Amino acid sequence: MSPDACLFCRIVDGDIPSDRVAESERSIAFRDINPAAPVHVLVVPKRHEPNLEALAASSTEDLADVFSLVSRVAELEGVTDAHRLLVNTGAEAGQTIFHAHIHLLAGARFTEGRLV
Ligand code: 5GP
Ligand code: ZN
Repeated sequence: MSPDACLFCRIVDGDIPSDRVAESERSIAFRDINPAAPVHVLVVPKRHEPNLEALAASSTEDLADVFSLVSRVAELEGVTDAHRLLVNTGAEAGQTIFHAHIHLLAGARFTEGRLV
């Protein structure tokens, strides 16, 4: 997909509005439009890559930065000790936006011992 047609690239560029929580040089964080938990933030590299593995292959700096921003968002939201990270890779795993992103979820009681 060309970055021009990518929803998250357009959010990164500010062409489409989003509820931004934090930003770094290489990544942004904004609230999910359809939250699955009281805190549901998407942490997204500014560089367009279709998934996290592709991001890792193209830039370890971008990969490290996106995780640093995850930590900062958890701090800002007050959920450093109580959150879940989720990454869907591939349509079969539920990925709908093919621009790498990490879901940070918190504020819900996650069932102990169950991943999904
Ligand atoms: P995926 O299913 O690809 O892992 O996650 C994509 C996420 O993006 C979904 O949770 C969906 O609710 C969210 N999303 C889709 N469109 C928009 C949008 O226009 N703005 C925001 N803030 N989130 C969106
Ligand atoms: Zn993109």
